[in-house]
Amino acid sequence: MVGWCPGSLDAVSRREEIAQNLTAVRERIGAGCAAAGRSPEEVRLIVITKFHTLEDIGHLVELGVTDIGENRDQEASAKIAALDPTIRQALTVHFVGQLQTNKARSVVSYADCLQSVDRPKLVRALQKALESGASQEDPQRQLDVLLQVDLGEGEDAGRGGIPPAQLPDLATQVAETDHLRLRGLMAVAPLGLDEAGTTAAFGRLADLSADLQTTHPAATILSAGMSGDLELAIAAGATHLRVGTAILGSRPDQR
Ligand SMILES: *Cc1c(COP(=O)(O)O)cnc(C)c1O
Repeated sequence: MVGWCPGSLDAVSRREEIAQNLTAVRERIGAGCAAAGRSPEEVRLIVITKFHTLEDIGHLVELGVTDIGENRDQEASAKIAALDPTIRQALTVHFVGQLQTNKARSVVSYADCLQSVDRPKLVRALQKALESGASQEDPQRQLDVLLQVDLGEGEDAGRGGIPPAQLPDLATQVAETDHLRLRGLMAVAPLGLDEAGTTAAFGRLADLSADLQTTHPAATILSAGMSGDLELAIAAGATHLRVGTAILGSRPDQR
């Protein structure tokens, strides 16, 4: 890793800072699982590394992190390509951001799981990209995908995703492709809700997930919960948490 000096004081203190934050988040997950009567093994932690450095990803892997997530193709493709191959191999890379169809080829070349599938046009673009071998030179490759659901109720509270009423059709469409594997649902809690509102939103998501699994039994992943609401997501049955700031600290404002 060019420019990274493991012995330097800055690197040591940054690593220490991340280690402490990670311990605190793991404790929150443990407490959340205990309160919900769940085993921590049912919950996978994805560290969202957007805006943070390759060195930070190296620290995370050394600290036992197995999953990272990114939300912008340009940043993600450059970072993943620059990772030390040993580190890359140790990681499952999730893409969690809004995706333009013209980025489909790029994203399938480095993502192991795409969490933000939200429209038919994107499904077609991904299938086409995989069909034409854009993915790691493997024409047979199947990509794990999650459908992103909009949990906002009318108004402007939504944060991306497909309206629940359109979910069954999108799920059918994904299931009919030969290169995409439907693994579950992802959502971001609508902005500006109190605890009861967020709990209700995650409850709607859990119901949608249960419905989906009656027709798509392999769609067992429920990706919900971020730095501010991970306990509520665990209580609602989340299997994957996407945590950024609570582990890596604040990042520059997006957009
Ligand atoms: C940035 C991001 C996260 C992490 O949010 P934090 O509040 O920093 O934990 C989770 N999910 C998605 C889709 C994101 O874009």
